[in-house]
Amino acid sequence: MASPSFSGIEAKSGISRGTLPEPFLVSLYRALAPYRGCGHGCAYCDGRAEKYFVEGIFDREIGVRFNLAERIRDDIGRGVAAKEYGAVAIGSGVTDVYQGYEGRFALTRSALEALLPSAQPIVILTKNDRIFRDFDLLSRFPQALVILTITTLDARKASLLEPGASTPARRLEAVKRAREAGFRSGVMAMPLCPGITDGEDEVRALVRECAAAGAEFVYPGGLTLRPGRQKDHFFALLAREWPGLMSTYRDLYGENRPSGAPLRQASRELEGRLSAILREEAMPAMIPHGVYRDLLSVPDALFVLLCHMQSLYAERGVDTGPLKAATERYGGWLAEERKALRRKRLPEGSRNAESAGLFGDLNQDGPTGDPEASGIPKAGRFPITEALEGRLRERPFADVCGNERLGALMDRLISENGVFDYPTLSLKRPDGSSIS
Ligand code: SF4
Repeated sequence: MASPSFSGIEAKSGISRGTLPEPFLVSLYRALAPYRGCGHGCAYCDGRAEKYFVEGIFDREIGVRFNLAERIRDDIGRGVAAKEYGAVAIGSGVTDVYQGYEGRFALTRSALEALLPSAQPIVILTKNDRIFRDFDLLSRFPQALVILTITTLDARKASLLEPGASTPARRLEAVKRAREAGFRSGVMAMPLCPGITDGEDEVRALVRECAAAGAEFVYPGGLTLRPGRQKDHFFALLAREWPGLMSTYRDLYGENRPSGAPLRQASRELEGRLSAILREEAMPAMIPHGVYRDLLSVPDALFVLLCHMQSLYAERGVDTGPLKAATERYGGWLAEERKALRRKRLPEGSRNAESAGLFGDLNQDGPTGDPEASGIPKAGRFPITEALEGRLRERPFADVCGNERLGALMDRLISENGVFDYPTLSLKRPDGSSIS
């Protein structure tokens, strides 16, 4: 195999911010990935797809953004993350910020150091236990959500599917240690490959091991294979290691849909099977409200909750049309309010005594539990967040989302400082007791 080669890429910016939070990684900000291409070399990686324009040999020719930390410092210096509370997600789906080359370049570590003064929470997704190295830094952020991707417990299958990543046992250990360090943590169990890693017993064992390690969620998902380089690469592995599955995969992915999705019926069956397992194991099947409400402002956490509720209710066969309409209406309101407040150029760190602490202790203390000692921000230190929370409080939620029943539930959630429990679809207090 050819030796890896590296080329410098100039990062033009360090952090971007959304007008709405991103529901998948529950974040408002996104820090650029330090690398392009990924030495983990997963057989199914969609980073190979033409859509992402990563040229060269995906896992051996790596682009390196040497100036990323500098760009992040510039962005923080000009106040990009100064006025709105919200988690920063590092990296993207087409590279891993703790891949092997991070041991040599330490760009993720420098990016984290540059992000520290933002005093924002951090969300990191990886398949590598090299993340241990940075636990010291992560503990200095108000909150850190450490997500490990684990698609199988079987070390041999993992070595074929994810050759450069840490073993499944080490990834589970990373979850355990993240929880022991006081971080939020859970598992992305995706993609589960048909006939290889998606068997019922195998998935159930995975969920149980994740639970034993302290994972707060296991977010499963199926395999997509975009026609072109991604699909060709995966099929080459399949032909070598699982030739008996070739005809199954040809059928499943024969439509060559641009998204790479398999036959609809197969997707529906897998979703049904996975959600049943997760429900039986009482494990949230996506990042739960109890986790991300500490990573986002109240208005943003509500938006993510509404997005997640659509999946949660759809899985149970409920017509989610009204919920979708309410989410769109609320999302439109939130985006417009935010844009208007951004145009006002509120000063950094202004504090409105009337609305500070409005929603109790939702934007919370970090792992140490001592906000002042760890430099942890409160919503009131972020003027746009503070103003948005004030706007939200001015009227019943039903007026904003256009749905009386949902509005009543959300008003209750806000006033009781509640948590929406995903497995039971009910409101609970932060200590887990029911709100009747
Ligand atoms: S770790 Fe992620 S980005 Fe890296 S090769 Fe695997 S799937 Fe692709």
